[in-house]
Amino acid sequence: MARLSAKLRSIEGGRLGYWCQGCESIHEVRVSQMGAVPPGPIWTWDGNVDAPTLSPSVLVTYSGKDAGEDDAPPERCHTFIRAGMVQFLGDCTHALAGQTLPLPDWPAMKRRSAP
Ligand SMILES: [Zn+2]
Repeated sequence: MARLSAKLRSIEGGRLGYWCQGCESIHEVRVSQMGAVPPGPIWTWDGNVDAPTLSPSVLVTYSGKDAGEDDAPPERCHTFIRAGMVQFLGDCTHALAGQTLPLPDWPAMKRRSAP
């Protein structure tokens, strides 16, 4: 993983990574600038590392903390990222649904401790 800016990382496999403050996790999209090739979805990135625009919207689903309990639906995060602003759409399952916030800086990662 290579640092592109305070906000973006390049990830092996032609992926662009950023921190999502709604999910408190990394999201990744494949972009042609990073060498992503079909098959699989590829996003358009304007190449801006400080205030990126990605197209189309990014939809991420994953199992939440309650996965497997009472048929809990997957967590859902659906965003438009335009000029460094993250628009969380109303169908997000996290608390930031409906809000538009600046793309956050990549957080300092805790050093992985030895097992
Ligand atoms: Zn998210």
